[in-house]
Amino acid sequence: THPSRIFSGIKPTGHLTLGNYLGALRRWAREDQYAAESLFCVVDLHALTVEHDPARVRRLSRQAAGLLLAAGLDPEVCTVFVQSHVDEHARLSYLLECVASDGEMRRMIQYKEKSARAQRGGQGVRLSLLTYPVLMAADILAYRATEVPVGEDQAQHVELTRDLAVRFNQRYGHVFAVPKATLPAVAARVMDLQDPATKMGKSHDATAGIVYLLDEPEAVARKVRRAVTDSEPGVSYDREARPGVANLLEILATCTGKEPEVLAASYEGIGALKADTAEAVVELLRPVRERHAEISADPSYVDGVLRAGAARARELARPTVDAAYAAIGL
Ligand code: ADP
Repeated sequence: THPSRIFSGIKPTGHLTLGNYLGALRRWAREDQYAAESLFCVVDLHALTVEHDPARVRRLSRQAAGLLLAAGLDPEVCTVFVQSHVDEHARLSYLLECVASDGEMRRMIQYKEKSARAQRGGQGVRLSLLTYPVLMAADILAYRATEVPVGEDQAQHVELTRDLAVRFNQRYGHVFAVPKATLPAVAARVMDLQDPATKMGKSHDATAGIVYLLDEPEAVARKVRRAVTDSEPGVSYDREARPGVANLLEILATCTGKEPEVLAASYEGIGALKADTAEAVVELLRPVRERHAEISADPSYVDGVLRAGAARARELARPTVDAAYAAIGL
């Protein structure tokens, strides 16, 4: 058995959102980095799976790295790096493509959604969009990670990663640790404030329903106060019947550490719930925004962190990927 090790990542496909923060970053910073040897990666290769602008991807990668540090990841404690700086990810991905099947890739919910979106937009579907979960499996397996802290939308990909690890180990000998996803207790899926049927996603077009980590406090408060709810009287927690209200309750619950049901019982009207949630989110994001401004003032600091992070990541991944090459017959 392997000692526990944590890996997770974020795609530089847009500005980071409150969903990314509550579903992932906040836990990485508060718990995960201290729980085990841990690696947090800006997964820039994954940003190439959909139509992209090269200069924008480069800029967003660096911004995402700065935000990981601003959110509280401490480079003295954990490893922060950029995926494309470490060749082992792509090297291992190819081997896993030889273990995965076409059918299981096509069954991935995200592939179905994103390929449909690309086609609706008149764009071709890149082959890398189909193989994306294999590269993600490589990201995780290269480090023998045992835990992958992610939001709900990534749970299926981590399940696939487990399947590939088990299959490879059974066929070619024990090389990989079999990882599991760890989801946050609440806010595992933060929804768009204007459209509570859709998750708040950074790759979506900017709308008033998406709170970005670097939004001005006034903008954050406005977006939360104008969230779409429903016309039922009072406040109750019901994800199915009242998704807009449930979303606000879950956001406030993660900010305050209280249960959404308990919060629901303490409010008579939606107005007060929105006002408190707006204030809580503003206060939650304030320190992140402030630290981000400090960190951005010295670009060489982020570069230095990423250089050291890549060196450490390579050192960890190399032996595992070499072992996989040997095991598979190369
Ligand atoms: P996005 O879907 O915004 O492009 P990524 O795929 O880069 O985000 O995911 C980064 C992390 O943020 C993952 O762990 C993902 O599960 C989490 N995440 C993304 N959106 C949300 C959301 N709306 N609610 C909760 N977690 C989310």
